[in-house]
This record gives sequence, structure tokens and C-alpha cells, in this order.
Amino acid sequence: MRQLREVRLQSKAIKDITNGYPLILKDAIEPSTSEMDEGSLLHLVDKNGGYIATGYYGMQNKGIGWVLTRKEKEQIDKKFFAKKISEAVAKRANLYTSEDTTAFRVFNGEGDGIGGLTIDFFNGFYMVSWYSEGIYSFKEDIYQALDEVVNTRGVYEKLRFHTNGQYVGQDDYVSGEKGEFPLIILENKMKYAVDLNDGAMTGIFLDQRNVRKALHDHSNGKTVLNTFSYTGAFSVAAALGGSLGTTSVDLAKRSLPKTIEQFQVNDINHESQDIKVMNVFDYFSYAARHQLKFDIVVLDPPSFARTKKMTFSTAKDYPKLLKDALDITNEGGTIIASTNNASFNMKKFKTFIDKAFKEKNTRYKIIEEYQLPEDFTVPHNFPEFNYLKVVIIKVMN
Ligand code: SAH
Repeated sequence: MRQLREVRLQSKAIKDITNGYPLILKDAIEPSTSEMDEGSLLHLVDKNGGYIATGYYGMQNKGIGWVLTRKEKEQIDKKFFAKKISEAVAKRANLYTSEDTTAFRVFNGEGDGIGGLTIDFFNGFYMVSWYSEGIYSFKEDIYQALDEVVNTRGVYEKLRFHTNGQYVGQDDYVSGEKGEFPLIILENKMKYAVDLNDGAMTGIFLDQRNVRKALHDHSNGKTVLNTFSYTGAFSVAAALGGSLGTTSVDLAKRSLPKTIEQFQVNDINHESQDIKVMNVFDYFSYAARHQLKFDIVVLDPPSFARTKKMTFSTAKDYPKLLKDALDITNEGGTIIASTNNASFNMKKFKTFIDKAFKEKNTRYKIIEEYQLPEDFTVPHNFPEFNYLKVVIIKVMN
């Protein structure tokens, strides 16, 4: 039986949650004397027992659970989940009917009213990601609700909890047709190979759709360096946009066959493109030694990276990364600086950019900015959940 717990909120949290803040932070609630089960429903109240909201308990690194409703009478059941999912589906009507794009986010956690749960669409297949054991305890109702609202060709899932940072190699198939991977999806007419049953990642980060399009549109006649390139999705966009040549750099060995595959599915001869399995920071020295320079440099590092030799944190080291990139960017060239680190905002990110260019005595102009695309819905009035920050910078001299 699911536990129902009455939990008293601290006064600051009452104000935030009443204003629509969806996350239940660890210190938002009065310490409870007994342990709570993951998935417990929380009746959140003020000090007089007055109702504020209903949420669920599910430990994630950012908090201990999420608000589900601020209507006291609303039941958290299959009907509730079906309503949330169908509202989310309705908001993506344009994407569902698009012929140019067949992969996008259908349900974006807190932005669509259920934190800890995301659902992505890949050419008929649905991939559900569960971010806590708590939300996973609702899976029966949620899968039934999903089936009621949309026609699923097949369903896959990712369990993003209890893995101690490692992805346990389970089979991610849930129901329906089994996918044949790689599955080919379209994004603004560009093809990408994805695999929904191959570890934590699928081969493409859907939140960068508009940035891939922007790079495509800037690339004609340009040389492009794609650092932290993963499966080379940015390189493919550049090549299709008419780039004179792309160089993809990633230290993961798997990035090589995965990048070759992304080029192949787009009928691009991968031998005409440069793919390097190496540390980006070693590549910067290599490029300097060989006097290589590029018209466009894409920087999209993970928030944290550790190798035997070094650690890199975007919050600390982004200015240094930009300065290294500037050394191998042609005058008049462009740097696409991206980060998904949620611990700082766009304003702060721009101070990193300013610092790097000042220290290099180089003028610059920000020509475009991107955050999450529309399908990655963010809760109203809480831009801190909009973790993606991408700035396209023109290097002046
Ligand atoms: N830009 C990619 C996603 C990058 S994910 C895209 O849009 O598809 C981060 C990647 O950085 C991973 O593939 C990881 O292998 C790589 N990586 C982490 N540290 C690195 C380093 N020091 N040098 C090169 N690649 C690194």
C-alpha cells in the first residue's frame, strides 16, 4: 500500500510552493521522525495543518520529491497521469505533425507537471526516463495512461536512479514492437541514428535541436571543429550545411564508430571528415603545433569530466576552455559555447565569456542565444529549470 504522509512545510517553502515552485527541497519540510517510503504521497501542510499541496517523495540529487497538485481534492491516479500526459501531447501538436522532425520531448518532468519523469518520442517509439524510485513506483498507472493517450509503436525506458553514477546494463524494452536499432529519426530533415537499448544515452541530445539547426545554417563554406563531439551530431549538421570539413573530437572510443554511423546514415563519406578519439585539451595543443585553425568551434563539454590527468568543471574552467578555443579560431570566426550545467544561469555564463575574451584582448559580439527548445517545457516563473545555455559568439579581432 502506498503511504500517505502529512508533512509540515517551512514558511519559505510555503511561499514558493504556493507560487508554483514544483520542487520539494530537503530543508523545505520539518524533519520527520520516521523514514518515508519512496513514492509516498505527501500531503503538504502549514503549521496549522492547512492544506498547501500534494506531492510525492522521491530522492533525486536536487530535492526529495515534487509537487503534483495544489488542489486538495485531486486524486493521484491513472486519470491524473492521463490528464497531464494529454495536456503535454497537445502542446506538441506541431511537432507530432511535422514531416521534417520525428524526434522530440513529449513530457518534460516538472515543466509538464510531474517532476522526475520525462518521455521522448523517436519515430513512433516512446522512451520513458524515471529519475527516482519514487516516481517509478507509479509506473503501472503511468504506462497505462500513456497507452490511453497516444498510439505507441513500442516503449523503452531508462532507470536513472540507484545506479551510483553507473548505468546498469538492463534491457530497456518495455512493451509493443521491439525496435530495430539503429532507428533513424529526422530532425529538421537531417537524419540521426539512435539506439534506445544501449545504455544510458541514445545517440542524440534532443535539447540541442535548435542549435544543430543554427550550426547547419552557419556552416556553408566553413571549417568546423566539434569538441566533446559524442556521436558527432553537430558535425553532421555542419556537413549537411555545406561545411568545408568537420573535425570531431571525443575521448570515448565508442565515439568513432558512432560518428561514422551518423555520417553514413546521411550519405556523407566519413573519410572526408576528421574524427579524433582524444582528449580535447590534448587536441588544442595538437592543433596549435600543427597550426590548425577553424572558422567555427563548437564547445559542448559535460558539466564535469575527469580523466587520469585532470578534472574539468564548467563552473570553474569554462573561461580557460574558451581561451584555448580562441587560439585555434580564425579571426572573424565563430565560437558556439554551450553548457547544460544547471548550477549557474545565462547571466553568469556570459561573465565567463567576457572574462575569457578580455584576458585574450579580443573583441567579440554575441550574435545568437539559445536555451531549451519549446518541447523542453520549463515551469512558469522558474527559469532556473532551463538548464541549457548556448551562446554563438563572433570573434572580432
Ligand atoms: N556535444 C555532444 C554531447 C557531448 S556529451 C552532442 O551534442 O551530441 C559529452 C562528451 O564529452 C562525451 O561523449 C564524453 O566522452 C566527452 N568527453 C568528456 N571529457 C572529455 C575530454 N576531456 N576530451 C574529449 N571528450 C571528452
